[in-house]
Amino acid sequence: AAERLANKIVLITGASSGIGEATAREFAQASNGQIKLILTARRHERLVSLSDSLIKEYPQIQIHAAKLDVTAKETIKPFISSLPAEFANIDVLINNAGKALGKANVGEIEDEDIDGMFQTNVLGLVHVTQAVLPIFKAKNSGDIVNIGSVAGRDPYPGGAIYCATKSAVKFFSHSLRKELINTKIRVLEVDPGAVLTEFSLVRFKGDAEKADEVYSGTSPLGPEDIAEAIIFGVSRRQNTVIAETLVFPQHQA
Ligand code: NDP
Repeated sequence: AAERLANKIVLITGASSGIGEATAREFAQASNGQIKLILTARRHERLVSLSDSLIKEYPQIQIHAAKLDVTAKETIKPFISSLPAEFANIDVLINNAGKALGKANVGEIEDEDIDGMFQTNVLGLVHVTQAVLPIFKAKNSGDIVNIGSVAGRDPYPGGAIYCATKSAVKFFSHSLRKELINTKIRVLEVDPGAVLTEFSLVRFKGDAEKADEVYSGTSPLGPEDIAEAIIFGVSRRQNTVIAETLVFPQHQA
């Protein structure tokens, strides 16, 4: 993998925790630090400490850590077009920022949670993709990795909105792959099952007890397991597209 990843410029959304953070670490490790990472999220201080720890471990790595809220539509294209020159020619986009909010039936779910999920999981992902695509088209190469979910394949009661956003990610990814079929731009979708991150804490709005309940009696994956699946897809030969990857913990049904 190291050879195929060498000197790539990788943009990760939601790199401040969980799967995004683990993906940054995995790219650094798999390339032996021969990589340029653009780490984005809203919590800039977390990106700075991630960046510091990666630079310490891999002194040759290059990192641009910057605040980017994927729901702030008007800021996305300017962000991409004003990247420092050495980070401008992005090779890999990891559309990872996303969330579930609340667990409520359609009749009860709060308006702001509905909007928050669609704005982040769907519109944010679409807008970042639109902003990066011209760079990929100009050089006829690049990888777009969209983080979906088992929830986009297998709906559950109380998850109608989250499941709808993740099935939207799936069909957006499929259609975009077909739209780009005659190019060398690849579209990969990685669908995690249960992964232990801050996901549940966000979902239950900081209620740690409720967040822990979700995982009690189960053996969730770690975020690094999803990161490995992402790196596997990105480091295949150009002729190979790992279009969809569903990654479960051993005992998840
Ligand atoms: P975390 O809550 O740990 O990470 C979510 C990341 O998204 C954070 O870095 C957060 O950063 C970022 N984020 C949230 N809102 C925005 C925003 N508006 N703009 C930019 N970044 C944002 O959860 P996970 O790592 O688990 O989640 C990553 C992805 O994996 C999501 O798309 C999620 O739906 C998906 N997933 C997770 C599963 C799980 O069991 N954990 C299962 C299936 C899919 P910040 O708050 O600093 O902006």
